[in-house]
Amino acid sequence: MKLDLHVHTTYSDGVLTPRQVVEQAKQCGLSAVAITDHDECRGYGDVADERDIKVIAGIELSAAFHGEVHVLGLDVDWQNTALLAHVNSQSQSRRKRAEAMVEKFRDNGIEMTMQDVLDACKGDVLGRPHFAEVLIKKGHVNSTKQAFAQYLNQNAKCFVARGKVDIREAAQLINDAGGKTVLAHPGLISGTVWNELSGRLTEFGFWGIEAYHPAHTNGQCRELLSFAKSGGLFVTSGSDFHGYAKTAVEIGQERRGGKYLARSMSALGVTAR
Ligand code: AMP
Ligand code: ZN
Ligand code: FE
Ligand code: FE
Repeated sequence: MKLDLHVHTTYSDGVLTPRQVVEQAKQCGLSAVAITDHDECRGYGDVADERDIKVIAGIELSAAFHGEVHVLGLDVDWQNTALLAHVNSQSQSRRKRAEAMVEKFRDNGIEMTMQDVLDACKGDVLGRPHFAEVLIKKGHVNSTKQAFAQYLNQNAKCFVARGKVDIREAAQLINDAGGKTVLAHPGLISGTVWNELSGRLTEFGFWGIEAYHPAHTNGQCRELLSFAKSGGLFVTSGSDFHGYAKTAVEIGQERRGGKYLARSMSALGVTAR
């Protein structure tokens, strides 16, 4: 199906602006694209006037549930007061974390300033990929992968945890902003956490799950599809595109899905080719 409901932009840790994402989506012949930045929804404002392709206002909230899970909000009111208050508080907490990380890097003998990180980040969502960019630029590592392995992963030297909203609150924020709450890339969630979470998605206010994601095997897609169908949940599909520099994924790359995805898209008000 030619749509992409999970795309990052320069408003978080993607490399393309919302306008560039939309142009790329049009070139690929997609009928719909959702802008879903980490803890940020204002990127939609830059492309709200778009008429040639359906652009969906979205967000990908980092939420707490036995660790971290990602919660997509699709078709949200991106100007909703409570949602914007959350965006603002996350941005502040990410800034504090970035300051603590800069300290850790300096303690580890790597010269770095807050300005270096701010220069790598075009929006207000300071993330670890921006640190990776700084490390590459300064010649400490050769790749994002190496930056994460040596310094940024949860068990690595310079990791600092970040405040997250509880999964229920995440769903509530999205639902209250008129959006549909979708569990992002469930195939990336560990088996034990999935066993705890899967039976409670409806109770938490979820509308669907992202059954189709480039990191999912065909087998996982099939299992997630039948899980969704049997549990009264809808399914979505997205590439999780961040930019060519970071992964090999392209906009619109996730093309799997069938009738139930089409039905889910109708429920979302999206008609796809
Ligand atoms: P943060 O928002 O600071 O927690 O950073 C999380 C983001 O870093 C994810 O959304 C990915 O875009 C990226 N990321 C996480 N782990 C890796 C990794 N091992 N290699 C490359 N990018 C990663
Ligand atoms: Zn990201
Ligand atoms: Fe994610
Ligand atoms: Fe994502």
